[in-house]
Amino acid sequence: MSSLALSTKPAKYAQDLAGTIHSYETGGAVDGPGMRFVLFMSGCQMRCHYCHNPDTWKMKEGKRVSVSEVAADIGKYASFLRFAGGLTISGGEPLVQADFVGALIRKVKAEYGLHVALDTNGGLGDAVSDAWFDPVDLVLLDIKHIDPIRHRDLTATALQPVLEMARRLSWMGKPMWIRYVLVPGWTDAFDEVERMADFVAALGSVQRVEVLPFHNMAAHKWAAMAGRKYLLEGTPAPTPEVEARVRQQFARRGLWVA
Ligand code: SF4
Repeated sequence: MSSLALSTKPAKYAQDLAGTIHSYETGGAVDGPGMRFVLFMSGCQMRCHYCHNPDTWKMKEGKRVSVSEVAADIGKYASFLRFAGGLTISGGEPLVQADFVGALIRKVKAEYGLHVALDTNGGLGDAVSDAWFDPVDLVLLDIKHIDPIRHRDLTATALQPVLEMARRLSWMGKPMWIRYVLVPGWTDAFDEVERMADFVAALGSVQRVEVLPFHNMAAHKWAAMAGRKYLLEGTPAPTPEVEARVRQQFARRGLWVA
């Protein structure tokens, strides 16, 4: 697996949309099916306490690139990605730059025919039309918390738009993987997981649930951020017993849990 920073060359074509990206990874194995080219967009409206990529939050810390430049970089790996996996657009939050991301997805789909996954926190669905999702094969939808007050405590944003996005994607029949980060003291309470599992089970196009155990590996990134306190310093990873219990809560409803 390699992680590369994109070039900062100016846009080659005036009609190219410009966007701001953080970096990309050419051999991602955990963000969608198979091996993925994972593009990390800059910008996120949430401020999750457990964020692993707080260095993606601010647009001004990213690199300005054109759709053509990014597509050309993806194209170098297209013949491999076509059979091995595909492209995942992550972040940050991709829908902060919905026009750029939409244009990139359409171009990559048209020129290389890649499987495309969108990794989103679901809070900015109002930024795009249903048709925007047409070339998206899979949505990796992170639902951070099922309780509106706890969601706001955890992410500094409202829960309702996320739930609306989930219902909308379900209504559209768009394949989804629901991602749930399991954080001791924040997202592991039995009753709240029950409510989350009920909500997910009522959706129509969920292919799997990914329960992602919290770890502290991003502590060094938080330490480097001026003016931001990392509240989860010292929070342990969930125990195997709690992780198994939470997986079971989803699985009991007939959901496939990874
Ligand atoms: S939505 Fe993702 S990128 Fe944004 S703050 Fe939360 S974990 Fe970080």
